[in-house]
Amino acid sequence: MTFPIEKFKEIQTPFYYYDKALLSETLDTIKREAGKYPGFKVHYAVKANVDPIILNLINQSGLGCDCVSGGEVDVCLKAGFPASKIVFAGVGKADWEINQALEAGIACFNVESIPELEVINQLAAAKDKIARVAIRVNPNVDPHTHKYITTGLDENKFGISMSVLPDVLDLALTLRNIKVTGLHFHIGSQLLDLEPFSILCSRINDLQNMVETRGIRLESINVGGGLGCDYDNPDENPIPDFAAFFANYAKLLKLRPGQELHFELGRSVVCQCGSLITRVLYVKEGLRKKFVILDAGMSDLIRPALYQAHHKIQNLTAAEGSVETYDVVGPICESSDVFGTDEQLPETHRGDIFALRSAGAYGQIMSSNYNCRRTPASVVL
Ligand SMILES: *Cc1c(COP(=O)(O)O)cnc(C)c1O
Repeated sequence: MTFPIEKFKEIQTPFYYYDKALLSETLDTIKREAGKYPGFKVHYAVKANVDPIILNLINQSGLGCDCVSGGEVDVCLKAGFPASKIVFAGVGKADWEINQALEAGIACFNVESIPELEVINQLAAAKDKIARVAIRVNPNVDPHTHKYITTGLDENKFGISMSVLPDVLDLALTLRNIKVTGLHFHIGSQLLDLEPFSILCSRINDLQNMVETRGIRLESINVGGGLGCDYDNPDENPIPDFAAFFANYAKLLKLRPGQELHFELGRSVVCQCGSLITRVLYVKEGLRKKFVILDAGMSDLIRPALYQAHHKIQNLTAAEGSVETYDVVGPICESSDVFGTDEQLPETHRGDIFALRSAGAYGQIMSSNYNCRRTPASVVL
């Protein structure tokens, strides 16, 4: 990626920079690859990034959205997504969130427990509406990713276990204001190996057989998101391998005639189009280390502190020159406010502009006011 570095020099740092052209190319790839298979429909997992320009591009490309809060449903409706393309997941939907979604007439609630199913039924009955729901099933598949982004194991709070699914379906059939339209799954995030998705497919094939013996015909299967992106080599792999991802499902999942397959992709859509742009405040000689102290910290990008994630660190101003070893840190009063240890970087000086790459997903949206800092702005070019 080439950065408009002269422009950056005029802008107050830190800020998030988004490359619209790369996002458009990514969306075109998703449309082309998913479009090869009839019934494949992609929703964007809004929690990855809600920048208005990004949401607008995604809406224009025809994707729907996957929300995990009433606030996100609101944001999507305001961004112009039709309610018929909005699905709503989450283990703790509050009554007002359910009511708001019922009023808007969203496509589907992804229901994560029996008590939630009963509450949605009651609230829908009070409005004389039928709520369309998919049951979120925890398929007990290990995605081999960081434990904080693992969601489909027995020990995780998400979904209902496979063994109680028959009971939940039997209950749902007795609830008059509920229509079960599908099954929903989401096993975790940042998966670069397709194997866990393949295991998920075989679980779903078994479950579909069981569901059919109960006389239920599912309109759709929703396999969630989780496709990862290459944080180490953003320039070599700017667009995740959507072709292989969709082909794997097409090959392994036994969809019924007319059945739709839904995806909820977050990270893989927006990760590579964003970078956190920051300035070097100081280069500090410690006793055993040299520190590059940036004006961006964990309040701007929390993934390294939260998930031990690593974003590629690039000095945009001093691209050439002798290489030095630095720890790259933020200004926040926390020892976890570190972006990289023993980074090999060109000799760095106060005022140099850095890019923390692959920060389009779970970056700006997770920024906070910790230490009474301002949240970073976004710059879209
Ligand atoms: C977060 C989330 C997603 C998106 O996950 P990515 O790894 O960003 O693709 C999809 N579905 C649900 C239910 C989620 O919570």
